[in-house]
Amino acid sequence: RKLVGKLSTGCTEFDEMMGGGIDTQAITELYGEFGSGKTQVAHQLAVNVQLPKEQGGLSGSVVIIDTENTFRPERIKQMVEGLSEKYGQEYDPEEFLKHIHVARAYNSNHQILLVDSAMELANELKDSDMPVRLFIVDSLTAHFRAEYIGRGTLADRQQKLNKHLHGLQKCGDLYNASVIVTNQVMSKPDAFFGDPTKPIGGHIVGHTATFRLYLRKSKGDKRIVKLVDSPNLPDGEAIISVTTPGLRD
Ligand code: ATP
Ligand code: MG
Repeated sequence: RKLVGKLSTGCTEFDEMMGGGIDTQAITELYGEFGSGKTQVAHQLAVNVQLPKEQGGLSGSVVIIDTENTFRPERIKQMVEGLSEKYGQEYDPEEFLKHIHVARAYNSNHQILLVDSAMELANELKDSDMPVRLFIVDSLTAHFRAEYIGRGTLADRQQKLNKHLHGLQKCGDLYNASVIVTNQVMSKPDAFFGDPTKPIGGHIVGHTATFRLYLRKSKGDKRIVKLVDSPNLPDGEAIISVTTPGLRD
């Protein structure tokens, strides 16, 4: 078994809450309402993972399975420029974009299949200077939620989601990579999904993800990140800011 790596969020409190950063060989679920910052955190991690260890990275590349067409190369550029500002040295946004491999998933079955492609790519890059060290699925649940409507299909949905998560866990284990998945929760109670504080996919996602982070909006660009039910870390909260140059304290 390989030693667990830590991927820095670039935010002091957030990293500390996570025991130094986002673990490799584990699935970390970001859940929260629309606009709570899930996709922003995912973009920042796609940048940070490429940094050397001294700067909190894993010197690796990233695969993003984008299910809602929310990946924005322009946003990556802003964050890389933000890094240049932060460290007082020049970083080339194009270099960073080269190591972000984005695949669009058109439906839930396609999304599951893309994990196999991601694994193939990780295998090809295994001995390169930028092995895959981060897998992102943003959003994990949107397609499932749209496709499986009605009580009769719920068990089937959970089973598929579970299988999907097991594939992702395998990616994390095999390549000593972090796995980030996002999951939207609703702001208002919903007749079908029920409790708005419980993520779509309910307890299945809850039990498979090793770390669960609940994001919520606060004043201005501030967001509160809450670590929920970690197996080995105390529950806690961290405040971050989502700014144009990226995530900040
Ligand atoms: P959803 O559930 O709809 O996918 P989300 O949790 O992924 O939502 P994000 O897209 O991560 O939400 O957050 C969007 C918010 O991030 C915006 O409302 C804004 O506050 C902030 N944001 C996005 N881009 C920038 C930027 N370039 N500069 C500063 N803040 C930004
Ligand atoms: Mg999003």
